[in-house]
Amino acid sequence: MRFNLLEIENPMSKDRTEISDIGEFGLIDLLNQKISIKNPSTLKGIGDDAAVIDAGEHVKVLTTDLLLEGVHFDLSYAPLQHVGFKAVAVNVSDIAAMNAIPKQITVSIALSNRFSVEAVEALYSGINAAATHYGIDVVGGDTTASRSGLLISITAIGEAKKEDIAYRSGAKLNDIICVTGDLGGALVGLQILEREKQVYLANPDMKPELEKYNYVTARQLKPDARMDIIHEFRDLGVVPTSMIDVSDGLASELFHIAKASSAGITIYEDKLPIDKQTYETAVELGLDPITCALNGGEDYELLFTIDQKDFAKLEKHPDIHFIGYISKPEEGKVMVTKSGTVVNLKAQGWKHF
Ligand SMILES: [Mg+2]
Repeated sequence: MRFNLLEIENPMSKDRTEISDIGEFGLIDLLNQKISIKNPSTLKGIGDDAAVIDAGEHVKVLTTDLLLEGVHFDLSYAPLQHVGFKAVAVNVSDIAAMNAIPKQITVSIALSNRFSVEAVEALYSGINAAATHYGIDVVGGDTTASRSGLLISITAIGEAKKEDIAYRSGAKLNDIICVTGDLGGALVGLQILEREKQVYLANPDMKPELEKYNYVTARQLKPDARMDIIHEFRDLGVVPTSMIDVSDGLASELFHIAKASSAGITIYEDKLPIDKQTYETAVELGLDPITCALNGGEDYELLFTIDQKDFAKLEKHPDIHFIGYISKPEEGKVMVTKSGTVVNLKAQGWKHF
């Protein structure tokens, strides 16, 4: 078979659609339409934080993530150990978002000749530290050459009882919307790291002043997936009615839950958890802290809904915040501001395309 290269990719073709026109989620929807599920053991395919596979007594959950130098991380300020740790943590976060326990990962990397053996060892020390932290085994992978930069692809497998799995689609009317930790820190941290990088590039003798921003920069460079919360759910006998991790921003994740659950969303501005350093640094940068909390990505906290009967079990938890409730779909997706005004939420998120 001969390929006509002009036919495959003709930039002048009037049929050409830019990926940025449909966005990452539009692209996923488009590809998903062409996929049909053939095996009854595939309980859930594309469309949640992880796929769910029937494995007899338990179910397995399966997720994969791709991290590219220059797109997802910048080695001028992200140490390789942290990049390795984060590559594992972001996958574990998707396993957590299914209310499952991570068990194994495979790690594939592509490297240009810019990287030494020592650099790869540094990367793997982060990967291994995360594997120890989350109690998972590294069971395989692939290594190959890259023409430019570093690429890391990790696939994670987790395990749960079928009845413990929390899909995005299970939120019911009047369920309470909860979020863990605090929001917006990773975005604010990224802005600081980018700012200090520009200062350094302009004047290499200047030492970056990062101490003051230790919390927000750590949120960006070394996020921790909230497996602690998943273990607490087990201890307290709580199964969230729906769950997703906050990777693209709270508003974007709320839209996913609303869409999958055919539900409306009401949240309260004064309930959004924002750390003091995040708040002050956002103001310093001329950013609105609430916008950072709603649209900042990479916090890797858990957003979930619970039945009201479970509220008492979580009420006193110091790191779970009750930010709103599930309404009827016709009530829309709204936020009640501090002054009592009802505004429509917008799912802006962060777009790589
Ligand atoms: Mg996710």
